[in-house]
Amino acid sequence: MALMTKEQYIESIKKLDIKVYLFGELLENPHDHPIIRPSLNSVAMTYELAHDPECEDLMTATSHLTGEKVNRFCHLHQNPEDLVKKVKMQRLLGQKTAACFQRCVGMDAFNAVYSTTYEIDKAYGKNYHENFKKYMEYVQKNDLTVDGAMTDPKGNRGLSPSKQEDPDLFLRVVERRPDGIVVRGAKAHQTGAVNSHEHLIMPTIAMKPGDEDYAVSFAVPTDAEGIFMIYGRQSCDTRKLEEDVDIDLGNTEFGGHEALVVFDDVFVPNERIFLNGEVEFAGMLVERFAGYHRQSYGGCKVGVGDVLIGAAALAAEYNGAAKASHVKDKLIEMTHLNETLYCCGIACSSEGYATDAGNYQIDLLLANICKQNVTRFPYEIARLAEDIAGGLMVTMPSQKDFKHPVIGPYCEKYFKGIDNVPTEHRMRVLRLIENLTLGTAAVGYRTESMHGAGSPQAQRIMIARQGNLEFKKDLAKRIAKVDEASISERQAAATIK
Ligand code: SF4
Ligand code: FE
Repeated sequence: MALMTKEQYIESIKKLDIKVYLFGELLENPHDHPIIRPSLNSVAMTYELAHDPECEDLMTATSHLTGEKVNRFCHLHQNPEDLVKKVKMQRLLGQKTAACFQRCVGMDAFNAVYSTTYEIDKAYGKNYHENFKKYMEYVQKNDLTVDGAMTDPKGNRGLSPSKQEDPDLFLRVVERRPDGIVVRGAKAHQTGAVNSHEHLIMPTIAMKPGDEDYAVSFAVPTDAEGIFMIYGRQSCDTRKLEEDVDIDLGNTEFGGHEALVVFDDVFVPNERIFLNGEVEFAGMLVERFAGYHRQSYGGCKVGVGDVLIGAAALAAEYNGAAKASHVKDKLIEMTHLNETLYCCGIACSSEGYATDAGNYQIDLLLANICKQNVTRFPYEIARLAEDIAGGLMVTMPSQKDFKHPVIGPYCEKYFKGIDNVPTEHRMRVLRLIENLTLGTAAVGYRTESMHGAGSPQAQRIMIARQGNLEFKKDLAKRIAKVDEASISERQAAATIK
């Protein structure tokens, strides 16, 4: 079963005994809940498209471990072309769902853990890489969705993990046994956690001696004993609980989600441990995972941006404003910004390089530039979409009013745009813009663009580190004919006089 169908995926995830709390209740069938279901549909799309002959090239790859065809979300990148295809696949899925399809965190974690475990074993003669290779074969054979989990709650940001007043604010090992470890803590903002078969845990920051219990990486099933999740709220989420709201939702079928995943003394067997106390490798794992996920945003956000640009263009058309030069110019600007993000995603992929383990890593500087732009451009694209849409996107009455026997005809009459377009079409497009810029999907398109894969400052630190200023200073010196040796000689002579 190297490639599951969409139906098999849904069935397989429903079989798990996942514990999810939403609005203070432990849900009986979380995946049928109207607030959660759209996010499951988005992940299901990653399975559906893998069977579409037109998308096959982007959606699948050949595993170097098993020689079998696997979903690209389970693939270890073998060359820069794989990295480019990954970004193209993410753009495609963003276009199809207009939401976060969640499965990338696992793919990015696979590639980071694969190359880092190789380096740890080389330094310490451990068996982590072999453990991880076996785990990857299991993931690929069963076509699993895995939550690549990095972010700890972090408590006081000024203190290291071992210096926190509450020792559980970074996930940690609380017991070491001959057959494995017991872990306690939590991972926050976990994208797709409820729709994942497994969690693959990584540390959240670089660590120092003293933090050994916190330098830990492992995999466990989502329904392992001791794990439960608390589902994150989204703006306008309870609209999904109302009746007759398919127009009001803007995007009825797809969505994304995040959750707090709590590990209340969870046992991890030895064969699923990939880092256990080697503090100096925590930083490498974080940097590599973050690099991949910063690349990812140059695909997924661009795909969602395509939908938003299309919706803005339709809104302009339905308003009768499509020919206005300022509207055309705003759409050009939106396209320019969106394609710039794509350029960054493609560039950091094309410049990818082989790690010692053999899988390919993106160019770190360019991936950080990509994500830094993502912290800004979607906001500007959203601003322009709101500008073009007009105020009606936030003042429009509900679907029930439009369908009402008495007031419905008034809504129909007073909210009509150009003649040949039904009022309902105009409503639907405006609600989609609302969903993407202010509603449930705004989590993924706006705030996640800011903080997902690391907040802007995290990229600036990496840009400072990777920017190679000394090399650039030398370039300038050569052109300006600044010869440092002769300058210091002249200065010394002047002092003697
Ligand atoms: Fe994938 Fe984008 Fe969602 Fe991250 S935000 S999981 S890259 S779709
Ligand atoms: Fe993300």
